[in-house]
Amino acid sequence: MYDPKSPHAEAFIDHTEVLESVAYGTAHREDTALIRQILEKAKLRKGLTHREASVLLACTLPDANEAIDALAREIKNAFYGKRIVMFAPLYLSNYCVNGCAYCPYHTQNKTIPRRKLTQEEIIAEVIALQDMGHKRLALEAGEDPVNNPIEYITESMRTIYSIRHKNGAIRRANVNIAATTVENYQKLHEAGIGTYILFQETYHKESYEALHPTGPKHNYAYHTESMDRAMQGGIDDVGLGVLFGLERYRYEFAALLMHAEHLETAFGVGPHTISVPRVKPADGIDPARFKDAISDDIFAKLIACIRVAVPYTGMIISTRESQNMRARALQLGVSQISGASRTTVGGYNETAAHEAAHTEQFNVSDNRTLDEVVRWLMEFGFIPSFCTACYREGRTGDRFMQLLKSGQIQNCCQPNALITLQEYLCDYASPPTQTIGKRLIAAELEQIPNEKMRHFTRAQLKKILGGQRDFRV
Ligand code: SAM
Repeated sequence: MYDPKSPHAEAFIDHTEVLESVAYGTAHREDTALIRQILEKAKLRKGLTHREASVLLACTLPDANEAIDALAREIKNAFYGKRIVMFAPLYLSNYCVNGCAYCPYHTQNKTIPRRKLTQEEIIAEVIALQDMGHKRLALEAGEDPVNNPIEYITESMRTIYSIRHKNGAIRRANVNIAATTVENYQKLHEAGIGTYILFQETYHKESYEALHPTGPKHNYAYHTESMDRAMQGGIDDVGLGVLFGLERYRYEFAALLMHAEHLETAFGVGPHTISVPRVKPADGIDPARFKDAISDDIFAKLIACIRVAVPYTGMIISTRESQNMRARALQLGVSQISGASRTTVGGYNETAAHEAAHTEQFNVSDNRTLDEVVRWLMEFGFIPSFCTACYREGRTGDRFMQLLKSGQIQNCCQPNALITLQEYLCDYASPPTQTIGKRLIAAELEQIPNEKMRHFTRAQLKKILGGQRDFRV
């Protein structure tokens, strides 16, 4: 029986409820009156239920689809403005005991070299990342209790936070590791985790079990209930995601929103972010093997519908996607992107690149440098932001959501984005990036509505030009 408050995966992701929501979407996909009504509700910017959103996703009326697109852009702009938060993944280890059918790290893969970074190697990686200008990382590791125990992850986090190279610092480390126990989530919390990210891969239990035939990840309930345990362990910000291409996208979409509703109902705070990865080619992995690949147009519609359904949730897109697809996604709802990513274990430190060879998790589609991505974003009118202030000021979980819902967050985000962009321009940007960045900051400073805050920000920007660092609102 469907119960959004239940702690049990099969109740909050009730299979029948998902199927009925998909069927409801199909039945009403040309229901002009209902679609208009749902769009009117969505314009209030308070979100939609999974059933309502399923109708929008299924909708086949060209005019209504244009209206969904336009509304997604409007909501994106209202909540996130022109700011795009930048991050990079850092692969710590590709040892893994699971049998995930889509991932080259699966345990039966004997051709991929296995590597786990030592703390010294992590330092070299982080220095390379700091030298690009990154301030926010997503740590990635396979599941392996012997090679990658939780102590390895927390020790790595402490190492990462301790590194100060020139003006560089990693100020927020998000962690993407397999489902674990409340005690281990507590340890991650104590080590200063930003967001705990775990992709569901697929919400469809039967497919999930078939795609994860062996290893601890086979357990659907344990995996699906992980965010509950993370929150019980004290982690406020959790990130959901589906690996699109494994199952029918409308099933995944309804279930993903049900998961968000569950967290909101059970813990009073929905997911901090939603990621939208698609299956990519990798060592021994051909995406064509999976039956439900989605086209770019459907992918764009999914992003627009997620934006409209959960306006308060940040959305992340990685370098799995091409420059063109990322440009489209940014307009429709994505608020965080990775830049200059390496999906190899040890890929950032050029001097040791040969050791990282062939350890990658998937092929990257956007190979530009961070400087190129930053410049490109600014050419589009976006503000690349290296901000990590909310997390460092304790504005996490429901405190963050309250600020976001009341609109007060706008008084923090724009100043912090400009302050951190200024740091980036001073320390890492190429001359052409600096030129466009200076113009952008000057123009965007005037967009800060609160006069006091505008003056304050101007003063901080000056101090950064004078050599000081790390200001935040
Ligand atoms: N090992 C952890 C776990 O079990 O959840 C998470 C880390 S894994 C390095 C990060 C994510 O990469 C996985 O959750 C999966 O969705 C994604 N991934 C794996 N293989 C992929 C592929 N071939 N293409 C795109 N994404 C992939």
